[in-house]
Amino acid sequence: MTYTSHGHHIPGTVLDEKPKSVARCGGIGLCGVCSTQAGQIMSTMKTVPYTWWNGLPTVAAKGTAIVADDPRFPLYWAKTEGIIGQRIPVVMVVLDGVNAGGGIDYLDNRDGSGWRKVTEGHGSPRWPHSNVRIEPDSFRFDDDTRPPEVAQPG
Ligand SMILES: [Zn+2]
Repeated sequence: MTYTSHGHHIPGTVLDEKPKSVARCGGIGLCGVCSTQAGQIMSTMKTVPYTWWNGLPTVAAKGTAIVADDPRFPLYWAKTEGIIGQRIPVVMVVLDGVNAGGGIDYLDNRDGSGWRKVTEGHGSPRWPHSNVRIEPDSFRFDDDTRPPEVAQPG
C-alpha cells in the first residue's frame, strides 16, 4: 500500500500505481486520517537508522516544499521573512512514536540546520530548528536522500 485511504502518497513507499481518487483533505501534513495511516506504514519500514528525533531513530528525508501561511500565528517567522508561497529546502520528519502528538513535521533547511539536527544532532532539543507549515502535497523528495532505496514496507 503506497497511498492513504484518502489517496495521498505515503512518503518513502514506491510509487507503483496511481490512487483511484484523491480527497481534498490536505494530505499527510494536515489531515489526521492521512497522517495516522502514513505513520503506521512508515513506522514499519526497515530503514537504516541514520536520522533521529529526540534521540530515537525515525524516518526523515530532505526535499523541498512550498511555504504556507499560518493564520494562527500573526508573527509567523516565514511571513516576517516574506517567503510565503516560495519553494524552499525542508526536512520531513516522521514524529509518530518519537514526539508527543506524532504526525509529520517539516523543518526549514535553507541553511542545512534542519538536516544537521536529525543527523548529527540526533534530533536533540538542544539543536535549534524552525518548523515550517507547507502547502498540502507540495513536498518533493531530493533525489539523493529519498529513502525508498533503503526502505521496504513491512
Ligand atoms: Zn486525508
